[in-house]
Amino acid sequence: MAGSWGCPHEANDLCSKVDNRPCDPGMKGCVLHGRFVFANDDKNQRLRQKQAREEEAANRPPSPPDPEAW
Ligand code: SF4
Repeated sequence: MAGSWGCPHEANDLCSKVDNRPCDPGMKGCVLHGRFVFANDDKNQRLRQKQAREEEAANRPPSPPDPEAW
């Protein structure tokens, strides 16, 4: 994919990281997958899963201290 950002895995519009498939930023296996929000919402599932897990962890009550640990 041509553009202002140059991915080190892209050569001749092919992705060396994902089986030399045509570069499709955000596709599964791409270095951007799960890290950024894309206009194509199909590419945002991984990010949404990560956000849901983080939110769940933040809302979880703290566990009581372990007396055996002292
Ligand atoms: S699909 Fe992702 S990892 Fe592969 S070349 Fe494109 S931007 Fe880079």
